[in-house]
Amino acid sequence: MIKEMLSGSLIDTEYSLNDDNNLSVNWKKFLRFVKNNVSTHIFRTWFIPIKPIKYIDNELLVEVPSQFYCEWLDEHYYDLIKTGLTKFFGENTKLKYQVILDTNQPETSRIKIPSSNALAQEQVRINALQKLNYNPNLAPNYTFDNFVVGDSNEFAYSSCLAIAKNPLQTKFNPLIIYGNTGLGKTHLIQAIGNFILVNHPNVQVLYSTSENFANNFIDAIKNNNMNDFMQLYRSVDVLLIDDIQFFQNKGKIQDHFFHTFNTLHQAGKQIVLTSDKAPKELKDLDERLISRFQWGVLAYIEPPELETRIAITKKKSENEGLELPVDVIEFIAQNVTSNIREIEGVIISLVAQVAIGNKKPNVDLVREILRTKHIRSSKILTIDKIKNAVSHYFNVDPNDLESKSRKKELVVPRQLAMYISKELTNSTLETIGKHFGNRDHSTVLHAINITERNLLFDERLKSAYEYIIRKLI
Ligand code: ADP
Ligand code: MG
Repeated sequence: MIKEMLSGSLIDTEYSLNDDNNLSVNWKKFLRFVKNNVSTHIFRTWFIPIKPIKYIDNELLVEVPSQFYCEWLDEHYYDLIKTGLTKFFGENTKLKYQVILDTNQPETSRIKIPSSNALAQEQVRINALQKLNYNPNLAPNYTFDNFVVGDSNEFAYSSCLAIAKNPLQTKFNPLIIYGNTGLGKTHLIQAIGNFILVNHPNVQVLYSTSENFANNFIDAIKNNNMNDFMQLYRSVDVLLIDDIQFFQNKGKIQDHFFHTFNTLHQAGKQIVLTSDKAPKELKDLDERLISRFQWGVLAYIEPPELETRIAITKKKSENEGLELPVDVIEFIAQNVTSNIREIEGVIISLVAQVAIGNKKPNVDLVREILRTKHIRSSKILTIDKIKNAVSHYFNVDPNDLESKSRKKELVVPRQLAMYISKELTNSTLETIGKHFGNRDHSTVLHAINITERNLLFDERLKSAYEYIIRKLI
């Protein structure tokens, strides 16, 4: 599984690349370059997991977690990677991807063995499912079409859509979607099921919460029909299990889930799971299960950034037949920040107040609704607020952060303020530069790099940084 990519012409080769130390130095520079050109979420999802292995004869070998990474990186970040390689590794650097393969993975799960009486078996399976009153358990309103995509959920969305389009290909199996509550995990996992029902009617898909799985299991023991239980879950082509954190501390049920998982996985069937925590943070989950999860792909959903929240607010209110003024949409999106279910709740209350209470949908009404729902207006971070917090800490005038002065007592806070602005706002280097006396983006980049390095060994700077961040968020 090795893929090649050729970089363009030479721009700047600063180091000879003949030892590991240079590899890691150049890799760090490459990462820093990437970090400054993509959002933090994308950087964490796609670039942090890459491990440089060796650089020999213009060839940089890196390890990535799955084949899907190579394809995604090539498709979305080809130009960026190419520029970075040329800049930090040299002309005509070839990138080779090596996919980590889990040696514990049984061969059978990777290779589908065609069976001579496959058709007959298929019929037996479908009969069994019919006898069991098979019902996919899906709510029809969770679809890909009404899911708003942004940086924070793009990877999860794309992986789910890829599975829904080719449910029998099992390129990444299992897919595990994880993230906090109210961020769209149930929506996405059910969207896979709904898409399959419409586009692949012969593919048997089953959605279940892990709680439902557990209840079915307990009922099966009570009613003495364990075979039906096992057959139902083990006969489907695509198994969607929501909220696996519920399996924590449930030994016997976990055991059955483990066996179901293995049976399906080895038969080349697709499994998708969701969790509110990263799998390795799930307490008391069988090590065997956790190690099985490593065969697959992890998709983390972060809280949505402002633009996505605006798009969601707009879409949801339109769905409710309510046309909202732009300032109201923005006010909701700026104040309800961490949970999309809460955005929906605010819109539903707003619709009710407008329809029944005959009120105008304006910012005051939204403020009132937020108060009754106990949603704290969140702090909106702007570059100006960051400048104020930093100058307050260092006891300097905020206007001095814009000045051209090179005095040390101004340079350090100015650079730190730029660094924090990049970290905590969605601003580009250009925008940050504008707020600091119209400096250009390379100056901002320089400030960020210097601060990042100094934070590693300058304890006083580090504690200033930590104090200011605590004040800001
Ligand atoms: P989770 O399972 O992560 O707790 P849900 O999938 O139940 O969250 O999402 C909560 C609500 O927010 C649902 O009604 C869902 O339709 C909606 N929702 C979440 N993310 C999005 C999105 N990106 N676009 C549209 N609606 C969304
Ligand atoms: Mg859910």
